[in-house]
Amino acid sequence: MAKKKEKKEEFTLEDLPGVGPATAEKLREAGYTGLMEIAVAAPSDLADVAGIGEGQAQKIIHAARKYANVGQFETGAEIYKRRKELTKLTTGSKEFDSLLGGGFETQAITELFGEFGSGKTQIVHQLAVNAQLPKEKGGLEGHVIFIDTENTFRPERIVQMAEALELDPEEVLKRIHVARAFNSHHQMLLVDKAMELAKEYPVRLLVVDSLTAHFRAEYVGRGSLAARQQLLNRHMHDLLRFADLNNAVVAVTNQVSAKPDTFYGDPTTPIGGHIVGHTATYRIYMKKSRGNKRIARLIDSPALPDGEIVLVIKTEGIRDP
Ligand code: ADP
Ligand code: MG
Repeated sequence: MAKKKEKKEEFTLEDLPGVGPATAEKLREAGYTGLMEIAVAAPSDLADVAGIGEGQAQKIIHAARKYANVGQFETGAEIYKRRKELTKLTTGSKEFDSLLGGGFETQAITELFGEFGSGKTQIVHQLAVNAQLPKEKGGLEGHVIFIDTENTFRPERIVQMAEALELDPEEVLKRIHVARAFNSHHQMLLVDKAMELAKEYPVRLLVVDSLTAHFRAEYVGRGSLAARQQLLNRHMHDLLRFADLNNAVVAVTNQVSAKPDTFYGDPTTPIGGHIVGHTATYRIYMKKSRGNKRIARLIDSPALPDGEIVLVIKTEGIRDP
């Protein structure tokens, strides 16, 4: 019985010593939703949010480390094997692909950030179609999960893009699994659901459009910033895990704040600031240009040179100008 519980990782915060329902509630509100979050927490932070002493916080953290799967080691050979499976998904634009070293990378999160209308949603629609292309054509021959937070998924748009690539639109739509996320909590749960769905279908692309809209709307003001960042951090790590385990592309969108964000005052700064930025492997800044032209700029990539390209949004989809 106990063994089974351990395997399924069903321990909850209330299983920790000295954590009753009230403390658990405070911890969860502050973003410490699971044992892993607590296991890696700083005692002083935990003490602060739960209103307990640092000594007690230490004890809680120690217990969480015992229960949570902290410090699982992998051999270099295992990592190497996984890295060898890494591939790229075409964007539909040769220029854009080469900016990214061949396209959107699997086992990574790519963040598209930019103002309203800069083409983020159009690009993720294009990716949802392209992911189904054969590998020779830059596809991944896979299914797609699309987490839609702003109700901007349009099957009609998928049909247009699929037809332009001479794919059967019906078939393409059947392989895109769309879920509306009604709030940030639901959005995070949907990543767990995605993990389950990926056991049933060969999912090779996960889209979250938009990553930050709910978080931004729900956590307003300086006082809730820490909680928001905690949750976003956890969400990003769940997404990265999805990318790794499924050798999948994860593409997320992020709107820049038109009026200064509570904390990150620069109007061109993406929501979520350094939390999202540090976990995303690639960050692309999208900017409106003349007519249907858009500028895509690669920012702070670890392995690729920074640079920018121009693409166009046509009825057929994302193309070179
Ligand atoms: P964001 O998600 O960054 O707010 P979108 O990806 O929704 O922006 O971009 C919207 C723009 O995409 C529109 O302003 C329009 O220029 C272009 N667009 C949308 N649908 C089509 C279409 N069917 N054909 C051509 N261009 C389109
Ligand atoms: Mg959009």
